[in-house]
Amino acid sequence: MAYFLLKRLAKEHQLVREDWEELLTSPSSELMHDAQELAVQLREPIYGKNIFIRGLIEISNICHNDCYYCGIRRSNPNVSRFRLSADELMTCCENGHKFGFRTFVLQGGEDDFYTDDFLCPLLQKIHNNFPDCAITLSLGERSSASYRRLFDAGANRYLLRHETATAEHYAQLHPSWMSYTNRMLWLSDLKTLGYQVGAGFMVGSPGQTVAHLAADLCFLQNFRPAMIGIGPFISQQDTPFANEKNGSAEQTLYLLSLIRIMHPHVLLPATTALNTLLSNGSQRGMQAGANVVMPNLSPASCREKYALYDHKACTGIESIEGLELLKKQMAEIGYKVVIDRGDYQ
Ligand code: SAH
Repeated sequence: MAYFLLKRLAKEHQLVREDWEELLTSPSSELMHDAQELAVQLREPIYGKNIFIRGLIEISNICHNDCYYCGIRRSNPNVSRFRLSADELMTCCENGHKFGFRTFVLQGGEDDFYTDDFLCPLLQKIHNNFPDCAITLSLGERSSASYRRLFDAGANRYLLRHETATAEHYAQLHPSWMSYTNRMLWLSDLKTLGYQVGAGFMVGSPGQTVAHLAADLCFLQNFRPAMIGIGPFISQQDTPFANEKNGSAEQTLYLLSLIRIMHPHVLLPATTALNTLLSNGSQRGMQAGANVVMPNLSPASCREKYALYDHKACTGIESIEGLELLKKQMAEIGYKVVIDRGDYQ
């Protein structure tokens, strides 16, 4: 029965909620294996064996927000805070460009220092200095006017995970002033403005049930974002979720496969969180259907301070210094890291 559902998903690229729940409830290892095979088959004619790399620049760990799962939330007093200057950011891009990166992802906490007046000239400069590169932003919730200005200044893509597509669950993960409805509005706003949008969620976040995951997949199959970021939840010792259990790497891999089958064209990273739980997470991720990796281009001294969760992997293939090793690991399993913007096809 479950296998039949997978085959239907591969043909129709969508399922009703009950069918998602069935696929997600205690999948057998055979089913996970079948999902991987279908995912790889469906990715093949679109992206082949190409792996896109994105240079992740963590611009600041200062945040006015207070998400319960996140290590850089404002209520955490044990974070040594940093913020990159415009010059430091440009240096990261220059470095990245030399190494073959053609997408820069500026990610950070919701840091009020980065106003539109600060960011717009910076984006224009990145755009002018690196005209062959795409610029992705992941700076949380701003305003429609701000998203528009940043787009006009040269940003092409925006990553804003929906985190969970169930309002009650959203409220379990976020402070009272954040709202599920707003989150969803921002996402459609970003799409309307012309961004390639990334949504996504944590696998195994506290309180998450199969019904929540089914709702996530229903949302994603309707919204069809260009990018979907998922990774296991990993607890951080100074957050309200310090004692919560980590998400499962195996379940994350299975979800990567299901997402690829549901949305064959999607740009799908094997995330640092997956690599943190699984030493060969990038390889396993690609074999499950992913096609993107996001090595860290930030100054080495800042990487540990950007601690969304404990024991974040940041010294191996997760960083620019590990790029050769990453290429080797990908070659070992028959994949190729390419020098390309890697736009949504
Ligand atoms: N401030 C930006 C960037 C957040 S960090 C924003 O709000 O979009 C990017 C993603 O890391 C988050 O969307 C969240 O899904 C993930 N993340 C945060 N804390 C985490 C944790 N403890 N374990 C795993 N992933 C986490």
